[in-house]
Amino acid sequence: FLSIRNVSKRFGDREVLRDVSLDARRGEVLVLTGRSGSGKSTLLHLVNHLQAVDGGEILVDGRHVGYVERGGQLVEVADLARARAEARIGMVFQHFDLFENLSVLDNVAFAPHHVHGLSEEAARERARQLLVRVGLGEHLGSFPATLSGGQRQRVAIARALAVDPVVMLFDEPTSALDPELVDEVLDTVRGLAASGMTMLVVTHHVEFAREIADRVVVLADGRIVAQGRPDEVLGGPAGARG
Ligand code: ATP
Ligand code: MG
Repeated sequence: FLSIRNVSKRFGDREVLRDVSLDARRGEVLVLTGRSGSGKSTLLHLVNHLQAVDGGEILVDGRHVGYVERGGQLVEVADLARARAEARIGMVFQHFDLFENLSVLDNVAFAPHHVHGLSEEAARERARQLLVRVGLGEHLGSFPATLSGGQRQRVAIARALAVDPVVMLFDEPTSALDPELVDEVLDTVRGLAASGMTMLVVTHHVEFAREIADRVVVLADGRIVAQGRPDEVLGGPAGARG
């Protein structure tokens, strides 16, 4: 369903990903771990075509995100923002990147209306439902600047869900949050995992990883060095590592 085949990525002469191959079944939750600089964020960015691969290919639900086929060749499309939205990949970053000049409701309604062509009314209704689902039904008219970090991150999750994603990518969604705000965001991610969403999640929360992951994948120096069930890769609760 999500297929990463022999992918490599270089920045200058630094090889950041080396021949990485990874498949996710529909509904599977993969947790990516590994030290800082091992290539986790880069891998997520490649899946969403925020950056282009140097070698190999990535297919999401059978399509090359960001490319169209012309005369047997894959050609990068001009409107990448649209291509990402059309590929229905939802991404939530470490630092919440909301539209500061739009209300919470309009942040979430933006893509359904402007990219997917839903009427403004239908897009807003959809946004309202998603915001209720992430526990922000009381904040529809608020502006991002007035929200806590945890609330902002839940808006970011609702916004990512608004395109009806087939895959959700999370890049350390809680690492910029004060500790007391972490749980509300993890709970939201937990709910999504339980709903059968296909997800790639980068997180340093070992207990959380153990709980949501169908499979844990460890990157080191741009390669996959281990993968398996959480208990195989992370050890039992007593052997938890940080
Ligand atoms: P962290 O846990 O710190 O987030 P990571 O596993 O997400 O680390 P990446 O952000 O994927 O690691 O970075 C992998 C390597 O690629 C690092 O050495 C980083 O410096 C380098 N890198 C990432 N993005 C770029 C870029 N745009 N230009 C140059 N080098 C980059
Ligand atoms: Mg990273």
